[in-house]
Amino acid sequence: MQVQGSETGSKGPKSSVSLEYLPSGVALISLGSEPVVVLDFDRLSAFKDAISQVKQKSPKGLVITGSSTEMFTVGADIHAIKNVTDPKVGEDLAKLGQAIFGEVEDLPFPTVAAISGPCVGGGCELALACNVRLISSDDSSRIGLPEVKLGIVPGFGGTQRLPRLIGLPKALDIIAAGKVLRPKQAIRRGLVNEVLPAEKLLARADEIASGKSTAAPVKIGFFDKLLTNTSYGRSFVAKKARAQIKKQTNGFYPAPPAALEAAILGLEKGLKIGLEREAQELGKMIVTPESKSLVRMFFLTESAKAIGKSARSAVKDFHSVVIGAGTMGAGIASVIARYGGQVILKDTKDTALERAKGQATKYLEKLRFLSESERSFILNRIETTTGSSSNIGNTGFVIEAVFEDLEVKKKVLGEMARMVQQDAIIATNTSSLSVTKIAESLDNPERVVGMHFFNPVEKMPLVEIVRGEKTSDRTIAVVGALTSMLGKYPIVVADVPGFLVNRVLTPYLNEAGRLLAEGNSVEVIDAAATSFGLPMGPFRVLDEVGLDVATHVAQIMIDGYGDRMASQGFTKKLVAAGRKGKKSGGGFYDFDGKEAKPFPELRSTLGIVVPHMRAPKDEIIDRLIFALLGEAILCLDEGVAGAPSPEAADQIDLGLVMGMGFPPFRGGLLHYAEQRGLKDVLEGFKVAADKFGPRFNPPKGLEERVRTGKGFR
Ligand code: NAD
Repeated sequence: MQVQGSETGSKGPKSSVSLEYLPSGVALISLGSEPVVVLDFDRLSAFKDAISQVKQKSPKGLVITGSSTEMFTVGADIHAIKNVTDPKVGEDLAKLGQAIFGEVEDLPFPTVAAISGPCVGGGCELALACNVRLISSDDSSRIGLPEVKLGIVPGFGGTQRLPRLIGLPKALDIIAAGKVLRPKQAIRRGLVNEVLPAEKLLARADEIASGKSTAAPVKIGFFDKLLTNTSYGRSFVAKKARAQIKKQTNGFYPAPPAALEAAILGLEKGLKIGLEREAQELGKMIVTPESKSLVRMFFLTESAKAIGKSARSAVKDFHSVVIGAGTMGAGIASVIARYGGQVILKDTKDTALERAKGQATKYLEKLRFLSESERSFILNRIETTTGSSSNIGNTGFVIEAVFEDLEVKKKVLGEMARMVQQDAIIATNTSSLSVTKIAESLDNPERVVGMHFFNPVEKMPLVEIVRGEKTSDRTIAVVGALTSMLGKYPIVVADVPGFLVNRVLTPYLNEAGRLLAEGNSVEVIDAAATSFGLPMGPFRVLDEVGLDVATHVAQIMIDGYGDRMASQGFTKKLVAAGRKGKKSGGGFYDFDGKEAKPFPELRSTLGIVVPHMRAPKDEIIDRLIFALLGEAILCLDEGVAGAPSPEAADQIDLGLVMGMGFPPFRGGLLHYAEQRGLKDVLEGFKVAADKFGPRFNPPKGLEERVRTGKGFR
């Protein structure tokens, strides 16, 4: 039978929770039939009705399952979270979910969550209210509490039930970091009782719910019990967790500490008081600007995935060639193989290929959820060669990551274009050359595109898809689909020097250089940037990127845009002094392993003779951020991210969060400016122009928007 949610006008029922009885006498509730099951208001009410009906029948047990092997439920409706502006509404929403899941917990017969696919957020909290959790080993299966990533706390009992189930230390590790686990990780931590093949899931759940068999118990270790069940233990864990959260979030994200306090209080004072606190915290968090910004980022990443939607089938089981097995090529090949693609990795040097294999192996070793055999299976998908390969003819995708030299790139891609299928995509990972120029000498230039990965490829989530003059929409869609398949976010940008991210970053790095030249220390400047929420200050970034690479990019920017992009030439001076950044042991900083320490001779190496000074922190921040913002507004109005539009503004915001680490809790650079008030920002530009020079003259697009009262969207 169907248990339907409330009806909305002529649209009919919105959810499809169903209830049936199995021959064993066990009730089976399916949370829906849709490909994506969201626990919105309608579904929650339908689920509540189903529970009431089950209660009346007193079955042997209850199994709760999702809509398919690939879907349990993705949890609460994020659109609803976005729209809440009153803390009371948030609190009531939490209470509603808590009450329903409380009913599940109180049922007088065994309850089993039979999970396959994502079981996250509210879905995980529902599973926690059951006696037993079984999860399938399907590739799509995940379980966890990612709420803090949206700036909120788990509100349907997660902060209370998870510590009781697996102990406080392990629970806080999941809740405060918003972790979502694979089945193997979940069973190791006790979040699920058993992992089993999807086809056996329901039968096993039925067996347990009917009392024919018992599930493997979840055991909490002796120390975890002590740390959870004693007041001394809890205060020890809480102190450590508070410090850890502070270190990880720099105090910018209020949700993790709020979740922590609710969890601790619940263990101290009991479930009821803990749940009340959890609901209050959800109410408080859901209206914070941090949550609104993080929810905004969530939707931006969702729309980035849409770029390749129409071409998803084209990248299934695809064969690729990566040319150039340096840092970038090795990274690209590794990621393609990890996500299921076949790769021929080609270089002129055997040594490069050997090194690349080592890079791939290291990357896969870090993915601890993979077994040894899975790792070697992935590695085997990478075929290395210095010559040709009989498999090249099957290739649908070529990407080059050879030296940054136009003629070399043209030659390499020209040869390859003649060997692969006529409609194979030909991509370049150039960071500074024109895609249009690279495409000029190739047949079918409409299939040529830039695919600008960031370093390190294995970690960085952004890919700039660069549209050359002749690049076709199909080509953009295919590389968009490929980017999403590789677990990264695509943005589509114009073929201009520096594309989007490096272009916007340049004035920011140059402004940092000016601050240094005026007598401020790199430590003070970097600290100001991190106090704004950036993960690293500009000089740490330069040392990470490599000062040789940075010098090269700086020149490209000057060639492309003239003197307005001119720098102090500091990176060049450091390279000449043998300091290429972290990779060479030092740059603006000295490095001892991962740790950066001040380089005592920095000023003399750079020829800085002005006296030491310390500009006010807010002034440093404004100079750095206005430098970014001025260029971002130019990019928006010049169509670098597509014709000026809300979508283009969104792409710029996403690009800078994912490409340079602009703080996600600020919702993106242009969003930040709007939140601050464009009038105030315009005033800030004018003050900075008076004090520091015409480079801060407000961009025309900003003045225009303030005059017309419009925003960037
Ligand atoms: P790299 O010097 O580490 O690697 C280049 C590799 O290409 C070398 O192994 C070399 O042997 C090989 N090669 C050269 N000519 C070849 C040919 N004709 N056929 C096959 N292989 C050839 O360089 P990298 O840092 O990996 O950069 C590669 C490309 O990626 C460049 O275009 C660069 O601008 C771009 N890029 C680099 C970064 C970065 O931070 N390193 C970031 C984004 C994009």
